[in-house]
Amino acid sequence: MSGTPFPTGTILGYPRIGRRRELKKAVEAFWAGRITADELEATAAELRAATRERLASLGLGRDDSSIPESFSFYDQVLDAAVAVGAVPARLRRLQADDGSVDLAGYFTIARGEGADAPFEMTKWFDSNYHYLVPEIAPDTDFRLASDRLVRQVREAADAGFRTRPVVVGPVTFLLLSKAADGAPEGFRPFDRLADLVPVYAELIAALRAAGAEWVQLDEPGLVSENVEVPRAEVLEAARSTYASLGAVAGRPQIFVAAPYASLGDALPVLLDSPVEAVGLDLVRGEVPAGVSTDKVLVGGVIDGHNIWRGDLEAAWAKLEALRAVSPRVAVSTSTSLQHVPHDVEDESKLSARLTSWLAFADQKVRQVVTLATALERGADAVRAELDAATAALEDRRTAAGVRDGAVRDRAAALTDADFARTEYGIRLAAQETALDLPPLPTTTIGSFPQTSDIRRQRARLVRGEISEQEYVDAMRAEIARVVELQESIGLDVIVHGEPERNDMVQYFAEHLDGFAVTENGWVQSYGSRCTRPSILWGDVSRPAPITVEWSAYTQSLTPKPVKGMLTGPVTILAWSFVRDDQPLRDTANQVALALRDEIADIEAAGIGIIQVDEPALRELLPLKLADQPDYLDWSVGSFKLATAGAADATQIHTHLCYSEFGVVIDAINALDADVTSIEAARSRMDVVADIESSGFGRGIGPGVYDIHSPRVPSVEEVGELLDIAIGAIPQRQIWVNPDCGLKTRGYDETVASLTNILEATRAARESLAVSV
Ligand code: GLN
Ligand code: ZN
Repeated sequence: MSGTPFPTGTILGYPRIGRRRELKKAVEAFWAGRITADELEATAAELRAATRERLASLGLGRDDSSIPESFSFYDQVLDAAVAVGAVPARLRRLQADDGSVDLAGYFTIARGEGADAPFEMTKWFDSNYHYLVPEIAPDTDFRLASDRLVRQVREAADAGFRTRPVVVGPVTFLLLSKAADGAPEGFRPFDRLADLVPVYAELIAALRAAGAEWVQLDEPGLVSENVEVPRAEVLEAARSTYASLGAVAGRPQIFVAAPYASLGDALPVLLDSPVEAVGLDLVRGEVPAGVSTDKVLVGGVIDGHNIWRGDLEAAWAKLEALRAVSPRVAVSTSTSLQHVPHDVEDESKLSARLTSWLAFADQKVRQVVTLATALERGADAVRAELDAATAALEDRRTAAGVRDGAVRDRAAALTDADFARTEYGIRLAAQETALDLPPLPTTTIGSFPQTSDIRRQRARLVRGEISEQEYVDAMRAEIARVVELQESIGLDVIVHGEPERNDMVQYFAEHLDGFAVTENGWVQSYGSRCTRPSILWGDVSRPAPITVEWSAYTQSLTPKPVKGMLTGPVTILAWSFVRDDQPLRDTANQVALALRDEIADIEAAGIGIIQVDEPALRELLPLKLADQPDYLDWSVGSFKLATAGAADATQIHTHLCYSEFGVVIDAINALDADVTSIEAARSRMDVVADIESSGFGRGIGPGVYDIHSPRVPSVEEVGELLDIAIGAIPQRQIWVNPDCGLKTRGYDETVASLTNILEATRAARESLAVSV
């Protein structure tokens, strides 16, 4: 088929939350009942209109399909599920007769309500974005059940735009889905592909009828390895799907985008299919060798994951190399820009020099436009822009702080001994003597409720309404309250509650050299939840102790052991925008050395237990199996470098925020922490089986309190969970703790839950004493 050509420059998607998180605010106002569905729709339409105008002003065409229609109220996978009628039986009452789901129903699926549990949430490829997992059954009634995207294409047309609607592709949709509860053993959502594809056929035809010349089907599922579906089946699915969609009468032209890694053996499949354009991630993947095609190849050479201005000349070179593969090359971002903040120009506090090295979404759009001009008119037409980017890169390479001689010398002098502690048995004996804890010791993960009063004090400090000293005094008073509360409840290992931390990563970023923090650099984590990652731009060092005074003050208040609290190197990297000019291993080790010094100072202040949180350990796990061993090597290595300076008698704890213990058991074991706490309550201790079968031999605290829910677990319930643990794991290893930190909970539930946990623990200790 022939049609209007693919635009020379485009982006795979744009942030949806709004420059000042307008969408978040509107959505939350809707949830709270402060605005109506119509008002929320109106705000969303304004945001979409503003985005289109913005993208046009940055140089994308108004009518050449270069502007993606990539809005979502909550999540693009949920949008696809709702569009194809994939609502599980348990929520079917949310669907109208025509299969459609209104906004309230949509948010019920996303967030749950009353007895309706939400869709599960999980990580979107190797980004920090989380999507909702559709639930598919053998009888899921796939049908075109939403005209939302069609209406958006028309809305754009009414404003004078011809946009390119973006939808999660059918293969990826099913690969990311899970079998609905009650589906027969062995049923795979993927097996429903033949029933789903006709709905996509109908959808793309409807989009064409609404005026779309091109549609973008996102198929990142083709780049990653899936344990459930063998590769050969995935490739066959791609072949048959795009053969079918290619044969749809009156269809738009199809652009299949494959972000997050290289397509590998799926590339020839797509090149053989009837689709008109294929998007390649040339940041994570390479320019393909040994193939040629006359399809449009869309080179994703501008990094959608990070915030660096980067090497524009190198990006251009990749496009030139791609021209050897196809005569029709276009330029794009490697992924949707949903992973980066809106605009560097919204930052007033970053140094001009650092700013000149950065590119947020709007700057990346400009880079795409520059390279599109180069594709159309030759590199000379954009020589000034290419040279300016190269000059900025050169400036960054040589800037003070990016390379710090002392930091580098120290890292270069590391030996294997710096990464290893004494053998566990010796440590355990020393710790038992030093700490004298009861069986089944109780503790928490670190944070106590972040009350509005705490947040107000911090805001007043930022606005200069109170002095640093007044702030410290307020936080100390909070710590004293939290210590007293823990003592009265009877917890064995005391925490300070982390009131002084705005965020477990940003707090450290603000106190370490080599980091910068932004004012408006929000990115969507999931739904209305946004984070503001710090920017790790230079060599990392610790100008002064960070947490030591807080921990020492806490210990001065109680005879019980206090647990010092740090965020680990992998998590600090995972939740920041990290420099791209050296291996992550090197960056992680610099952070680790700063933490190692902090640990030494905490020990010197008389603290015998230190927890180093690594909730993101699994999150950074690479998509390709072949890349995983190297990752596990450096990530585990950096944790060990941070902690291995501790004395034998110092008990090192770690905390991991998820329950898929099995997936990374070897890594968790290799961390060599004395005590590991993990999430377990939600899955009713499923994880205990993995712990048992792995023979994990050190301290382990499977959570007994699901802190993601306001529910207070009863004494009996906690007792049952403890029994499961005690039945499978040697009692000497078991710790008793909640699933995660308590910062998002209220005080009433926290006190009630911890009180029940202690009562259940006392009962368990008594029955253990009887049975010995
Ligand atoms: N220590 C942190 C807290 O208690 C850990 C949070 C986390 O793992 N996400 O809040
Ligand atoms: Zn956690």
